[in-house]
Amino acid sequence: MIDGKAVAAGVRERVAGQASEFSSEHGRPPGLATVLVGEDPASHIYVKRKREASEAAGIRSFHHEPDGDVSQAALLELLAELNGTPEVDGILVQLPLPGHLHADEIVRALDPAKDVDGLTPASAGLLARGEPGLVPCTPSGVMELLREAGTDPAGTEAVVVGRSNLVGRPLASLLLGADATVTVCHSKTPDLAAVCLRADILVAAVGRPRLVTGEMVKPGATVIDVGTNRTDDGLVGDIDFDSAVEVAGAITPVPGGVGPMTIAMLLANTVQAAGRRAAAPG
Ligand code: NAP
Repeated sequence: MIDGKAVAAGVRERVAGQASEFSSEHGRPPGLATVLVGEDPASHIYVKRKREASEAAGIRSFHHEPDGDVSQAALLELLAELNGTPEVDGILVQLPLPGHLHADEIVRALDPAKDVDGLTPASAGLLARGEPGLVPCTPSGVMELLREAGTDPAGTEAVVVGRSNLVGRPLASLLLGADATVTVCHSKTPDLAAVCLRADILVAAVGRPRLVTGEMVKPGATVIDVGTNRTDDGLVGDIDFDSAVEVAGAITPVPGGVGPMTIAMLLANTVQAAGRRAAAPG
């Protein structure tokens, strides 16, 4: 069992040390701005956790909660202000945004140097080219879990189920960069089970409860479940844990696997952005 809570605690401790070093060197802590629009209850919980985790790691939190009916222009103005605030090293706009706002334009308005969610086209492009940049938090959390599980992707066959910009695509780039042979599956993949069975590293990021069953897992494979699905049985992943655990060499649970890593990697990205900005000329 890969214990995401324990790995995340280690990352948070490391980040707190780096944040403290940054503060001593630059006379201010790294800063993370969170922007929360609307009434989505899950988003409110996520942002609260992110702010608390930032403060606990010695990162200053700048929180903005514009009215739910804020206009696109006013939100763009807020982002321009945050882009220009020197003490803000990272900006996180919590998604999803209310329907009247154009999320894509909002994301594109972020200064790529402060894009701690790694979602701007500039960040995605750097990652696709294998160049250093800010990487989306959940996929980099998956890579950290693989490292902790002692699974080196080099020379392995990796299968990622899901091709979202948030998880599947960036994770495929990271695995490729780590020398795995990568296959990405999606809703039009004809024989998902056959592809999954080839995987030494199998990651599911789909949003379909228990889609991947034990019969689709290669014996000894490392299985990472990104899915978080609220069902009548509570929170379940995209992997059918009970059957997959019988076959896998290592597996993440839901909850307590990938989930805790996402916030930890956000903190890591903020400290990384702060360091890069401080070192940048001008
Ligand atoms: P998404 O944007 O909805 O993407 C889902 C992907 O799964 C799409 O590429 C889709 O294919 C593919 N898919 C759907 N049905 C499929 C099927 N039957 N067979 C194969 N592929 C299928 O979702 P996401 O944002 O990547 O999130 C995926 C899951 O991860 C969700 O449960 C989400 O809640 C969870 N998540 C968790 C964390 C965390 O911190 N733990 C963070 C982010 C996301 P098409 O492209 O063909 O439509």
